[in-house]
Amino acid sequence: MDGQRVRPEILDFKPYVPGLSIEEIKERYGLAEVIKLASNENPLGASPLVVQALARAGQEVFRYPQNHSPRLLSAIAKAVGVPAGQIVAGNGSDEIIDLLLRVVARPGVDNVICYEHSFSMYRLTAKLCGVEYREVPRGENHRLPLESLAEAVDANTVMVFVTSPDNPTGLAAKAEELMVLAGVLPKGTLLVVDEAYMDFTWPPEEYTVMSSLAELDNVVVLRTFSKAYGLAGLRLGYGVMPQWLADHVRRARLPFTVNLLAEVAGIAALEDDNFYSATLEIVFKGRELLLKRLPELGCEVWPSQANFVMFRPPQPAGEVVEALLRRGIIVRHLASFGLPQNIRVNVGTQAETQTFLDVLKEILHA
Ligand SMILES: *Cc1c(COP(=O)(O)O)cnc(C)c1O
Repeated sequence: MDGQRVRPEILDFKPYVPGLSIEEIKERYGLAEVIKLASNENPLGASPLVVQALARAGQEVFRYPQNHSPRLLSAIAKAVGVPAGQIVAGNGSDEIIDLLLRVVARPGVDNVICYEHSFSMYRLTAKLCGVEYREVPRGENHRLPLESLAEAVDANTVMVFVTSPDNPTGLAAKAEELMVLAGVLPKGTLLVVDEAYMDFTWPPEEYTVMSSLAELDNVVVLRTFSKAYGLAGLRLGYGVMPQWLADHVRRARLPFTVNLLAEVAGIAALEDDNFYSATLEIVFKGRELLLKRLPELGCEVWPSQANFVMFRPPQPAGEVVEALLRRGIIVRHLASFGLPQNIRVNVGTQAETQTFLDVLKEILHA
């Protein structure tokens, strides 16, 4: 009966499965201390400049924010070197994905394409918008299958999604390869490059397409403040897109989805070079340690350009994840990504990453 009131494409919706929270695990296993390495959050927390700016802005929350967050857009424009008119800020980059689909894709007619075992938000949002979501297989060893994406496009494909660096594998495509893909797509197809983890690549200029956007009128780059800038709980992301598209997206979006505190925090985060450098340093060191130690424990690892590492333990991944949970360490079992043999762990503080490795060693040798 209830089902008759919702659109048919909504009936088989499976809810998004987020990483388990610290509170949930403390309660479930009666633990006092829990280390969360499951959602790729910033190991250093939030920047002190952000915390100060938030305290000051607290008194202003009775005001509506400025629509389209103009001060934030200028700060982003300066930071990434693109005109503010090409940037749209959103309530997390999730909102930008949703807006793009709603502005560009005709429900029941158009389709969008990604590859298998990818970030579930593309599928979820497409489905909610009534737009067909297609997947192509990944290449050998989970490589990003850029050629297959190009081949799978048809006359009604309006968007192709690539996450680079990729979640959950950590693999990244070179900017050159993405430029080739953008070049071979038909005129009506946008390439959406989700650069949520681009901060953690080295050297970044070999990977980001941001610097080439002026030459490309069919590419959108997504960025977020949730990872390197430590603002996951405030929900702030943005898309950089051709001017013509930005104009339409801006007109179509709901007002005020970027709240006053998120705007203030975003601006402060962009000003804190020390926090940003410290974040990169801890991530680079931790990633190197994980990539070195995990194979010594008998795990297969994938090279990573992100703030996490995907690995396959020598024992069933579900059991390893459960054993880690009992010991107060939350990692991400990749069953929800269709990779039940694999685990994703993000870099923590130096002590957290080391504790994870110590506990994993005990579990695997038990
Ligand atoms: C974490 C992540 C994001 C960020 O999403 P927000 O909505 O900005 O928090 C975007 N894309 C991918 C692939 C991610 O893993």
